[in-house]
Amino acid sequence: MSEQSINAVQQAVEQIKQAADAAEVAAANLATQGGAVEAASAWVESSYIVAAVLFILSLAGLSKQETAQQGIYAGIAGMLVALSATLLGDVANLGYILAAMLAGGLLGVRWANKVEMTAMPEMVAILNSFGGLAAVFIGYNSFIEHSIYDPILLGINNTLVFLGVFIGLVTFVGSLVAWAKLNGKVKSSALMLPHRHKLNLVALVATIVLLVNFVAAGNSASIWPLLFMSAIAIAFGVHLVMSIGGADMPVVVSMLNSYSGWAGAATGLLLGNDLLIVIGALVGSSGAILSYVMCKAMNRSFISVIAGGFGSDEGSVSAEAVEGEHREVDAEAVAEMLKNSKNVIITPGYGMAVAQAQYPVQEITDQLRKLGVNVRFGIHPVAGRLPGHMNVLLAEAKVPYDIVLEMDEINEDFAETCTVLVIGANDTVNPAATEPGSPIAGMPVLEVWNADNVVVFKRSMATGYAGVQNPLFFKENTQMLFGDAKESVSAIAKAIAA
Ligand code: NDP
Repeated sequence: MSEQSINAVQQAVEQIKQAADAAEVAAANLATQGGAVEAASAWVESSYIVAAVLFILSLAGLSKQETAQQGIYAGIAGMLVALSATLLGDVANLGYILAAMLAGGLLGVRWANKVEMTAMPEMVAILNSFGGLAAVFIGYNSFIEHSIYDPILLGINNTLVFLGVFIGLVTFVGSLVAWAKLNGKVKSSALMLPHRHKLNLVALVATIVLLVNFVAAGNSASIWPLLFMSAIAIAFGVHLVMSIGGADMPVVVSMLNSYSGWAGAATGLLLGNDLLIVIGALVGSSGAILSYVMCKAMNRSFISVIAGGFGSDEGSVSAEAVEGEHREVDAEAVAEMLKNSKNVIITPGYGMAVAQAQYPVQEITDQLRKLGVNVRFGIHPVAGRLPGHMNVLLAEAKVPYDIVLEMDEINEDFAETCTVLVIGANDTVNPAATEPGSPIAGMPVLEVWNADNVVVFKRSMATGYAGVQNPLFFKENTQMLFGDAKESVSAIAKAIAA
């Protein structure tokens, strides 16, 4: 072998050695990077578990008035952990996400600071609608931009896309209609379309047929079944909420909240985000349980509400039919009546929230208790415009929890009660609910008319949210104290103190 050849072989061996060293370094680097990626994803997953536990603690806290505040703090902490873990994980376009979060956060804070307590349900309805809309966008995006070729995985993906878009759209449109009904832009009475049950059934069958076609088409699925289904979902969402009467709106609001949770869970499955699946399922199931509890409390069929007025029939008794003579009273006379009463029950309603009368109400409660009068509160499950609305207001004014009772706990005591103050409540104390055929028939109400004296605080003879006239106002033991509830109760406090 010539010297030249030996040099060439030596050089080649040297190069191979160098290449082997480089490969070793690269392999070591890759191993470190892989470890880092694995460690980061383990960190994100553990943070998700912490966040999920905090959300469960939050729900547990919110189930009781005494622990509600801790529940809120646990929820805030859970959301902070969830957001930080997600942002510190593997995300693209972090700049855009942060900008969107900043804009959304600022708007949210501004809006939440401005909103009146009485407009909270509308805000909840709008927030639900955002959740639904997000699910729709993610669903369409996951259909347009996926890289799944396995037929089974594609089938699962397309089913989730279809269901996510359907539930998301029903939630979005239904929540917008609920918002319009709650703020009076749309009439609160139920829309009773002819053949509405059949229409619902046709919509359901058409949706199932479209789903089967969409999924069976696999990789060649076109966007048309999705678009047709979207049109059906929009019509169904509008009909779902329009066909619910005013008095049943609370159940619809909590049901839409539940739907937004399920839409979120479907989105979590599409994005492969475990935390979103858990939160979606928590919101979905807690909303469904709340709706079920409210349906039972209001003697309504759960299925009717989910299916949009399925089986519910508008009453034949005219909402405005009641007429008669009513008696009026003034604040001084009510103060005297209260001082001479052994026991008093106060039943607040939406009007107390409008007037912000909870503070003078707390004042007269204090005054009367000091005079030895047994004062208690009777809370109807749908008093106000949000579940728990009255409890929040009374807690804000520092009324002791132990004298605030649920309807079931106090309803039998009215018969032994000297005086009942109905402060800005109407539908929730309406005896028309006991008459078959009334639009609120079957709804349990506070039976205030069984007391010796009833004083109703309101500004006029107008009907309540359900639009049903109230025969309570014309009963012999009822007296009307007209005017803004805050002013009337303050005048009574002044008269008691005098
Ligand atoms: P209602 O809406 O039936 O009645 C409230 C009464 O308050 C009205 O009659 C009104 O009469 C009076 N009022 C309003 N402003 C004042 C004021 N400043 N001072 C004094 N009185 C005032 O309330 P209820 O709480 O009894 O019933 C709640 C209704 O809302 C139910 O039909 C329920 O189903 C529905 N709803 C409840 C939700 C919930 O989750 N709790 C959600 C959505 C709807 P006037 O105008 O003459 O003063």
